[in-house]
Formats: sequence, C-alpha cells, structure tokens
Amino acid sequence: MKNRFAINTFRKYLALFLIFLFGETFGQTTESPLVISPLTGDFYVYTTYNLYQGYRIPANGLLVNTSSGVVMIDTPWDTTQFAPLLDSIDAMFHKKVVLCLATHWHEDRTGGLEFYAQMGIPTYTSVLTDELSKTNNKNRAEYHFLNDTTFKVGQYNLETYYPGPGHTRDNIVLWIPTENILYGGCLIKGAKARDLGNLADADVKAYAQTLINVRDKYSDPHYIIVSHSDWKSTNSLKHSIKLAKKMKSR
Ligand SMILES: [Zn+2]
Repeated sequence: MKNRFAINTFRKYLALFLIFLFGETFGQTTESPLVISPLTGDFYVYTTYNLYQGYRIPANGLLVNTSSGVVMIDTPWDTTQFAPLLDSIDAMFHKKVVLCLATHWHEDRTGGLEFYAQMGIPTYTSVLTDELSKTNNKNRAEYHFLNDTTFKVGQYNLETYYPGPGHTRDNIVLWIPTENILYGGCLIKGAKARDLGNLADADVKAYAQTLINVRDKYSDPHYIIVSHSDWKSTNSLKHSIKLAKKMKSR
C-alpha cells in the first residue's frame, strides 16, 4: 500500500513537472489540455482549450494560493479538465479550493460551477449572472452578490467590479490591489486581437464606454489577464478600447 502511495505521488509530481515544463517551453501552443503558469507570487494562470469555429482556442482562469486555501476564478472551458484541475491544485498547493467565482454567464466561465459545488466548493456569481445563467440554461452558482464585493480570502482581497455591459450584459472584472492584477475575463481581448471575438450577446454600443470605465478605475495594472489570449502585454485594454470604438462607429 505504501509503495502504491509513493508511486501515485511520484506520478502526480511527474505530471505537474510536465505541466510546468511544457507550459513554460511552449506557452499557449502546447497540446497539453491543462497548463498552469506562474504569474507572480501566489498567483497562477490556468489554461484549458476548446474548439471555436474550428480553431483550438485557449481559455484562461486565475488561481490564488492564499493562506486559507485556493481561489479559482472562472472554471475550465474544457469539461474534461474539471477534475484534473482540482488534482493539480491539490498536488501543487496541498490545499482545498475555498472559493470559485465566475465572471459572466457563458460556458467558458460557468461550465464547472455545478461540478465544483458538488465537490463542496462554495461557488459564486453576481445576481445578474445568475439570472442570465438561468435564462440560458447554464450552470448556476450556489451563492450570489448584488453589488461590487470584496472577497477577503487569507491575506488577499479580491475586488469585483461591474463596469457595464460589453462582451455580455453581466461581465465583471476583478482587481487584486496588492499586486495590481486586473482580471479582465472575456471583456478584454488580447493586445494583438483582430476583433472583439464572440459578440453574440454583446452590447456593441456600450462596449467602449464599459472598457473606459475599467481603464479609469484601475490606472496602473501591472498584469491584465484576458480569457482567450496571452497576458504578456498590458496594452490589451487600450487595444480593446480602440476595437470597441471602431465597432461602434460602423
Ligand atoms: Zn469567453
């Protein structure tokens, strides 16, 4: 039994090592279905992949390794990775996930909410996200907040901010003041994005102003995490504003 435990533990660490290795070496082009990349300090970006219009598209979420447990911002887009993500978190941090929060009602953010709630993890969305999740038959969180809220978990504060409709009517962003991390979710596109992506549920008229609200509130982000591109450049917000203004004037 002991040996078996040792082998399993070894396997877990090997898998983790490979995730790191491939994540570091090949970044977004890796074929691994789950990549966990260090961002800064206790913050990690995790990435899963799914097909959109025939292309393999990455979807990023955030993990925070706090002294009271791990926070998961948004759930994997790839439904086969709900459990592997938990296993990886367990192997890396030896802590439980104590909070799972989704930033709008689309599948690539909310898909795992019910799975994680069944695993005993408290799941959260805004009230507006919950209403839209219900209308659109998506996974719903167990708990909901009406206004902008600060979640205090361990030594970190995570502030939610609703800047107005854009990618969807309910999209929120998160701000971590100690690290100046702006988590933009699907509202903000990559610094090199050609367009604003999936606009099926977007508010095309309000989009630019909503982004400007984010820019005005958080003037000095050191990191901007976006859902479907890398986070190497903080030019993503400025670039998205340009795209949204162009779209509005069409
Ligand atoms: Zn998205």
